[in-house]
Amino acid sequence: MKSYNVDAFVLRLRPLGEADRILTLFSRERGKLHAVAKGSRRSGSRFGARLDFFNRVSLTLHRGRSLDIITGAQSAIDRSVWDRLVEPETFALASYVAEVIDALSEPDLAVPELFDMLCELRDAIGAGVPAASLAPAIDLRLLGVLGLAPELDACARCGSALGNRPLAGGRARLSPNSGGLVCRRCNVEDVGALTGDGGATFGVSAAELSMLRALRTAPFTALGDIGDAARLRRLTSAFVEYQLGRRSKALAVANARTARRPAPKAAAR
Ligand SMILES: [Zn+2]
Repeated sequence: MKSYNVDAFVLRLRPLGEADRILTLFSRERGKLHAVAKGSRRSGSRFGARLDFFNRVSLTLHRGRSLDIITGAQSAIDRSVWDRLVEPETFALASYVAEVIDALSEPDLAVPELFDMLCELRDAIGAGVPAASLAPAIDLRLLGVLGLAPELDACARCGSALGNRPLAGGRARLSPNSGGLVCRRCNVEDVGALTGDGGATFGVSAAELSMLRALRTAPFTALGDIGDAARLRRLTSAFVEYQLGRRSKALAVANARTARRPAPKAAAR
């Protein structure tokens, strides 16, 4: 059979010629895919808005010589998600997630946990969970699903267990370069030994660390307002950007926007 069906999220749309688009999709069945939606840039296209960014769609594709062609698309209209995706913070978060998945996932390799995470994220967006609270939780989940989870329970360098009170007697630090927490001893030994830009470490308080640990498995829809979510996000996004090998474009845009805005009143702790 030259046709097949997938359940997929639209991660990216690029124009192709006068009337077509190339879509980057993340599907349950085959992971990341690129496909052509013919005529989708014309007004009155038969695809309508079904192939818009971050939509979940059931697609029929026909195998092409280089790129597969989308021949059918169905999606349930979900106004609650739609309404929130136009908010700048939510759109920035979805763009960031799409960018990271596109960069870190292999084509044609199914990762069902990643697809499930996208479904959960869409549900949380639709339920009105604040984007700021979702951001650090998503970073940790993305890294976990991709097998890149930061080590938060032991020193990532020497493996010594740090227990539940890792900060007693000294300040532990997080090191994206080392893959997680580094104990005081390893951190001291590394001073001067690290080269390039890979040696940046971040001080982490006991409260922040326990929050990061909890966020690894917290259901997205259960997240309310998190105190100082922006600080947690700086820690988690440093790990994602280390894996990307560069600054995230979507994150840079979001940070520039945040910097221009007056700081919101601190949430009650
Ligand atoms: Zn150590």
